[in-house]
This record gives sequence, structure tokens and C-alpha cells, in this order.
Amino acid sequence: LLQLSAPLNLLGMMYREIKQAFTNLERLFGLLDERMDVQDRSDAVPLRAERPSLRFEDVRFGYDPRREILRGISFEVPRGGTVAVVGHSGSGKSTLARLLYRFYDVDAGRIAVEDADGAVRDLRDVTQASLRQAIAIVPQDTVLFNDTIHYNILYGRPDASREEVEAAAKAAHIHDRILAFPDGYDTEVGERGLKLSGGEKQRVAIARALLKNPAILIFDEATSALDSKSEQAIQAELDRIAEGRTTIVIAHRLSTVMNADEILVMDQGRIVERGRHGELLAHGGHYAQMWALQQQDSNEGA
Ligand code: ATP
Repeated sequence: LLQLSAPLNLLGMMYREIKQAFTNLERLFGLLDERMDVQDRSDAVPLRAERPSLRFEDVRFGYDPRREILRGISFEVPRGGTVAVVGHSGSGKSTLARLLYRFYDVDAGRIAVEDADGAVRDLRDVTQASLRQAIAIVPQDTVLFNDTIHYNILYGRPDASREEVEAAAKAAHIHDRILAFPDGYDTEVGERGLKLSGGEKQRVAIARALLKNPAILIFDEATSALDSKSEQAIQAELDRIAEGRTTIVIAHRLSTVMNADEILVMDQGRIVERGRHGELLAHGGHYAQMWALQQQDSNEGA
């Protein structure tokens, strides 16, 4: 019996480790219990995405065919430009990001990428590997692997050197913090290790994204309330990592969208207002109202 139980225990342990690894991955993408049925076409080509522009053309989509979530979305992110998306919770902002990363295919319309040579490609015509190589997502809530902090940053580009990992951490302003951990970069983090604060986790995600050095960046701003100093720090961070990249910011604080080339205001799956910050304020609609509310909140908070 003893002879048998040792390998069985080992198997049980391995099973738990593997299951944990998958759970981590799925949670990283918010995919638990979601379908993953996107397939490469047999004639899919690799995307060459240096300084691409992006176009959503009358995109319609629902997770469930009975409930349309995006109802005809059109916009363009110019080469190296930034488009910000704002709107109530549930209006469909994160869904845009999921479609761009091609976790799902659109039901109607298309998403197109124009590469450096001017070739316009429907996302469905390029390989998923090349698409995902070109995009980095800084998510709202970063899930850390139960592993070292070094491994957690390295995940952005597994073949990076130790020096490159540290350079990314420095650029994300988390290097000094890491050096203060008990084992520096070899400190175990995550649920079973050192717990990081929300802000620290987002910096790890930024370091990962910087290490990946993507042509396209999706920044899903954390919802949690920040004091104005942290808010300014995040703004500066965002400006820096978005520099030269084609960027979509899903924003919860309007202060982070003021410099965007275009701001899209979403409501129930439609774009109800669009323009630059000043234009939208002058327009006196939803955006102006949201702005007034946030100003009021931050004055009360101060
Ligand atoms: P928030 O600001 O809270 O992040 P959001 O604007 O990003 O919200 P989405 O996450 O895009 O909103 O969700 C849009 C709608 O789609 C919501 O009604 C949500 O319940 C629904 N939804 C999101 N993910 C799924 C899913 N995997 N399956 C079914 N419905 C979903």
C-alpha cells in the first residue's frame, strides 16, 4: 500500500500544481468559464504590426446571441495614437479589448489593422500568435502567479534576460520596492507568497507590458479610487508607456483621458459622444456631466 500511495500522492500534487497554473492563466485573462472557440484560418498570415493603425468598422457582438452587447461600434486609432473609452459599468468597454485580442470574433462588421506597409488586415485573417505578440494588456486587476516576482515580470517576454527584467521594473517604478522585499527579485509573491498592493500589482503589469514592447497597448485603468498624487503618477506612467504605441485606454478617471486623440463615450453598447476633451466639455452632454461629477467628488475627497 505504501508503495502505491507515494506515487499517488505525487500525482495528486502534480494535478493540483497544474490546475493552479491553468487557473492562474485563465484568471489573468478573465476567462474562467468562457468559451474559447476562435481558430486560425488555414490561410492565416502573420501580422506585421510595426506602428499599426486600428479600425473598428460597425462592430456588433454579443456573448450570447440573444443579447447584443456592442451595437455598431466604429472608430479608428491612428498610428501611435491614443483613443480613450469611457462610460458606465457594463457599457461594453472591456468587451472592445477582448475582441481586439480576439478572445472572440465579431458577429458583424470587422476589426482591421493597417500594418507599416499600408496593408489592411481583418483580424480574422492573421494568426492569433502574431496578433497576441503585437498586443499587451495592462488589466484592471492583475493576477500574480504563485512564483517569484522575477518570474511574474518575465512572463511578458519569457526569453528576456535578468537585466531586461530589471530595466522594465525600473521603468515601471517598482524596482526599488522589489529590492526592499526579503529576497529581492527572488521573493515569492501571489496568494501563497508576499501580497502586493493594488498599485504595486498594476506596476508589475506595466513592467510586463514594457518587457513585451508591444506595438499595440491596451490599458484598462483600475477602478479603485486614488488620491490625486497617485493619479498624477499613473497618468505620467501611462503617457510614458503609450509613447509611440497605438493605444486604447479604458478609463475610469477622466483625468487620464484629457490628452487622448479621441474620447469615445459609450452607453449600452453604442458610442453616444465622441471628440477631444475640450470639445466634449463644450458640447455639454454625458461627458461634461461625468466631468462635473468627478470634479465634485475630488473636491469633496480633498
Ligand atoms: P466595467 O466598467 O465595469 O469594466 P465595461 O463597460 O467594461 O464595464 P463589459 O465588461 O464590456 O463592460 O461588459 C459589457 C456587458 O457584457 C455587461 O452587461 C456584462 O455583464 C456582459 N458580459 C461581459 N462579459 C461577459 C461574458 N463572458 N459572458 C456574458 N456576458 C458578459
